[in-house]
Formats: sequence, structure tokens, C-alpha cells
Amino acid sequence: GGNGFAFFEAHMQAGVREQVELARDLRAALAGEPGGGTLALHYQPKVATEEGDITGVEALLRWQHPQRGAVGPGVFIPVAERFGLIVPLGDWVIAEACRQLAAWRDEGLQMRVAINLSVQQLRQPDALVRRFEEALARHAIAPGQLTCEITESVAMDDASATQRALQRLATLGLALSIDDFGTGYSSLAYLRRLPVSQLKIDRSFVQDLETSADARAIVKAVIELAHALSLQVVAEGVETEGQAAVLRGKRCDKLQGFLFARPMPAEELSRWARDHRG
Ligand code: C2E
Ligand code: CA
Ligand code: CA
Ligand code: CA
Repeated sequence: GGNGFAFFEAHMQAGVREQVELARDLRAALAGEPGGGTLALHYQPKVATEEGDITGVEALLRWQHPQRGAVGPGVFIPVAERFGLIVPLGDWVIAEACRQLAAWRDEGLQMRVAINLSVQQLRQPDALVRRFEEALARHAIAPGQLTCEITESVAMDDASATQRALQRLATLGLALSIDDFGTGYSSLAYLRRLPVSQLKIDRSFVQDLETSADARAIVKAVIELAHALSLQVVAEGVETEGQAAVLRGKRCDKLQGFLFARPMPAEELSRWARDHRG
């Protein structure tokens, strides 16, 4: 099932030799060689809190390894970052997301896709912006159909290249979203200076909403702060009706999580989206 890699992910402290092997196979996968297995994007809906309509999807990378089966991104993304593969892998994600947007458009489905960016991609602003421009142009996709999710710690990276990259992506017309919000230490003043339009509340807070008054207080404060700064708020990892009810009460804009849908292959997503259109 969708969580086939959970055991492997939770228990594998990939040793150095294992990491070297994974890096070799990932390189093969990127080159389209049979020994590398296959890469794919799965898509998880973000729904409007009130109406339950789909507002867009997050693209999550999947790797089907020829011997190991499904390897989770929690395992192979750190390997890619360590072995210099995250930029080519990220380029593949950008191209694939745009290709899929065009395929959906051709079947009459207008969609927005959010992709996850690694800090190493942002540290090469020129190459990154060029990648987006190429992929958007090749498939005639409007930049506003793409959102870049960057974690709070990455957004706070004070390398000037990273900050320049964020500005240039925003200028290109992409939407920026701060992922895993609440886990870092960003100050309000700083957040206000970033060209972002969305905050995603980290799952760790969402998980505790029904049991912890502290979690409720934090989430309430984050939503009010975000709205005061004209940012949209998405809650990630919503698994129960109780959590959704609390978030509805606090006027969270969008919800994402297993309660609504798991990440799924493109064809399945297109059926799901048709059933959940406004
Ligand atoms: P993330 O960006 O925070 O993505 C959310 C993760 O939570 C995903 O795990 C998703 O499947 C999972 N999730 C969604 N709803 C629920 C829920 O209700 N309950 C629970 N328990 N989990 C939920 P996934 O797909 O294993 O991805 C893990 C991380 O790997 C992502 O965290 C992201 O940091 C990274 N990642 C995935 N795809 C990419 C990619 O294309 N590029 C980069 N740089 N990183 C990626
Ligand atoms: Ca994300
Ligand atoms: Ca997240
Ligand atoms: Ca998270």
C-alpha cells in the first residue's frame, strides 16, 4: 500500500555502505537505467477547509527500487543531498510536475501543484530559475500553477544566494510556502520580509490538537499571525475529524492529510479531483 516503506524508513539507519549503494542506484534511476528502478511523483490533495473542494496538490517523490521495493523519501532524499544528487533529482521533479500539469490540462483538469525544494537547489539560483523557466515554457504552464514548499529552516538560511533564489522565484510568479512551520525559530519580523504567500503548520502540532491545550494555543496564534500578514494557512497531517473540527474553528484555510486522501498516482488523483471539484 501507500505506506509500504514505513518499516524500512523507520528502522533503517542507512549505514555508509548502504548509502553508497542507494546513491549509485538513484543515479541509475535518474539516468533511466533499468538497475535504478523507477521514480514517480505521487500527489496529495490540499482541500478548502469549509467546502472540502480540492485547491491543489503536493507532489511527493516516490522511488521503486528493483530489489528493495519502495524506498521512502525520508531515506533517499538525505542520501541524494549527501551524494550530490539532489539538484538533478530536483530538476527531474520540476520537469515531471510540469509535464503532469500539462497532461491534466489536456484532459480538462486545471490543477495547482506544490513541489518540495531542498536548500541545495536554492543555493544555485540561476540554475534553478532556468529550470523552472524551461519546464514552464516547454509545457505552456502558467507560473501561478506552481508552489514551492521550503522548510522553515531553509527559509531562514541567511546565505545570500538562498534569499536571492526566493526573490527570483517569487518574481517569476511562483507561489512560495513555508513548510513544517512552527519547528524552527523564525521571527515575525523576518517572515514579513520573505515573498511567501502560505504557511504550512507542521504535523506535530496538528497531531496534538485534541489532547494538548498548548498545541491549540500555538496553532491559534500561528493562524492569527499568518492572517494578519495576509498569508494562507494549510494544516498538514490531518488524520481525524476531531483535528479537522478544531482547525475549522480556528479558520485554517486549507487542510491536508490522510483524513482526506493519501498521496496517490496521477491517474488516481485525477479521478479524486473530479469527485471533489467546487
Ligand atoms: P513533507 O514535505 O513534510 O511532506 C509531508 C509528509 O507527510 C509526506 O511524507 C506525506 O506522505 C506525509 N503525510 C501526509 N499526510 C499525512 C497524515 O495525515 N499523516 C501522516 N502520518 N503523514 C502524512 P513522505 O511522502 O514520506 O515525504 C517525507 C518528506 O520527504 C517530505 O516531508 C519532504 O520533506 C521530503 N520529500 C518528498 N518529496 C520530495 C521532493 O520531491 N523533493 C524534496 N527535496 N523533498 C521531498
Ligand atoms: Ca512539503
Ligand atoms: Ca511538511
Ligand atoms: Ca512536516
